[in-house]
Amino acid sequence: MFLKRLDIVGFKSFAERTSIDFVQGVTAVVGPNGSGKSNISDGIRWVLGEQSAKSLRGAKMEDIIFAGSDTRKPLNFAELTLTLDNEDHHLAIDYSEISVTRRVYRSGESEYYINKQSCRLKDIHELFMDSGLGREAYSIIGQGKIEEILSSKSEERRVIFEEAAGVLKYKTRKLKAERK
Ligand code: ATP
Ligand code: MG
Repeated sequence: MFLKRLDIVGFKSFAERTSIDFVQGVTAVVGPNGSGKSNISDGIRWVLGEQSAKSLRGAKMEDIIFAGSDTRKPLNFAELTLTLDNEDHHLAIDYSEISVTRRVYRSGESEYYINKQSCRLKDIHELFMDSGLGREAYSIIGQGKIEEILSSKSEERRVIFEEAAGVLKYKTRKLKAERK
């Protein structure tokens, strides 16, 4: 499984409809400060179901909608589609390409789609659960997070690595089984 494409409109600084193609392997996004690099990773996190405006570096969810500039009017909605290659069927769904779409309006109303079919947030969470890519996964490490990991206590750090390695769920299950 790998990220193939991101289609953005109205999300943060992306007023213009923008498509970003990712190739298999490593992709680096470079650009001056404030040019929107982190907005791309915020977008990936958001389309995967992030519900916290704070972790998207905003005060409220509306802050992710393009707020306007000197030359452009604000937009009324933000929409993002993340297309994934699923040839290896890493995600448990019978498609070799999966697109996940999220749209939000200023009213706060959110819409979710999997392969253009309307769905619930819960379906998005379930699709990515245990895939290493979900909202709670450590596949996205934000700016400042590395420092946080390095400065945390060794026991806390261990939990982070166990969670990233996918060991935590087995440990939790083992504990539950032992209690029975
Ligand atoms: P750095 O190199 O400093 O990390 P960056 O390339 O990661 O920079 P971002 O943080 O992605 O930059 O982008 C910040 C820019 O996005 C700011 O100019 C900010 O004004 C703009 N921005 C954020 N939210 C919105 C919004 N809702 N509407 C318009 N512009 C926005
Ligand atoms: Mg940044």
